[in-house]
Amino acid sequence: MERTLSIIKPDAVQKSVIGKIVDRFESNGLRIAAMKKVKLSAEDAANFYAVHKERPFFKDLVEYMTSGPVVVMVLEGENAVAKNRELMGATDPKEAEPGTIRADFAESIEANAVHGSDSLENAEKEIRFFFAEREIL
Ligand code: ATP
Ligand code: MG
Repeated sequence: MERTLSIIKPDAVQKSVIGKIVDRFESNGLRIAAMKKVKLSAEDAANFYAVHKERPFFKDLVEYMTSGPVVVMVLEGENAVAKNRELMGATDPKEAEPGTIRADFAESIEANAVHGSDSLENAEKEIRFFFAEREIL
């Protein structure tokens, strides 16, 4: 059993596809162990994406991630980290496999509908960033 962090990003929240995205997880063996809607501050977004701070798109990424509310979730299940990444599809929706969340709901390589932790180690850090233990059930 693994846990991973998922974020439904501002573009997808704005398009009212929260339910459709949550259904992808629940229909594919990932249980929602925690969930909340939050508006990230610039500091939150910069800290969360700190690994990308030297990248040319960093400033835009922080602006985008703070442009509206997001929905943050802990997904739990067998191979949850890899399964979530598979359901999400490639970072650039133009390269995402048909039927993936990004192929179906993303706008662009930046406004790409969802975030998912990329390793078990980062999943633990990212879950701790957003949730207290008593919020994960
Ligand atoms: P995430 O970390 O959000 O799950 P990812 O792991 O598929 O996405 P990363 O390389 O970690 O991709 O990039 C983090 C985020 O930064 C992307 O999801 C996207 O929103 C943005 N991003 C990545 N590459 C670019 C780019 N070339 N131009 C603009 N934004 C980008
Ligand atoms: Mg990433």
